[in-house]
Parts: sequence; C-alpha cells; structure tokens
Amino acid sequence: MSKFTCKCGHVINLIASPNENEWRLIREGTLEDIVSALDEGKIINGEMFLDFLRGKEITVYRCPSCGRLHLEEAGRNKFVSYVKEVSA
Ligand SMILES: [Zn+2]
Repeated sequence: MSKFTCKCGHVINLIASPNENEWRLIREGTLEDIVSALDEGKIINGEMFLDFLRGKEITVYRCPSCGRLHLEEAGRNKFVSYVKEVSA
C-alpha cells in the first residue's frame, strides 16, 4: 500500500522512509517483554528486535491534516479510525 486516503480527503503518502505519518502501537506488556529480552541478551541486534515485535504491534497511520488515527487492527489493510476529540 503506497497511499492511504483519510476520511477527511487528505492522501497520506506511505512511500517515504522514515514515514512521519506511520507509527507503531504496542501493549505496555510487550514493551516490558522487550526490555527483559534486551536485559537477558535474547535480543542483540535490530533484526532480532523486529522479529520479536512481529505480530505484536499495530500499524497506525496518523493524518497530518485532521489528526485522525487509523489503526490496522481489523486485519491486514483493514483500518479502524479514531477522530481527535474537540475540547469545548
Ligand atoms: Zn485526515
């Protein structure tokens, strides 16, 4: 997927690397597991780190125009969108 169109109409280009609009979301417990694996020497390089993370992360696209977060949590290339709440 090279582009993602936000519901506001903004087209997010996903080709750029690193991509300012693409984030990763992980559970706190996963982060703690990674820290433990690093402390125990089970992760010694970037490739092992990415292998450890695989399947435990959610890809998030953040629209730079409206601030919506699009989480790939409904399956591959299936997104659930969250709209920024406007404070009164
Ligand atoms: Zn948007």
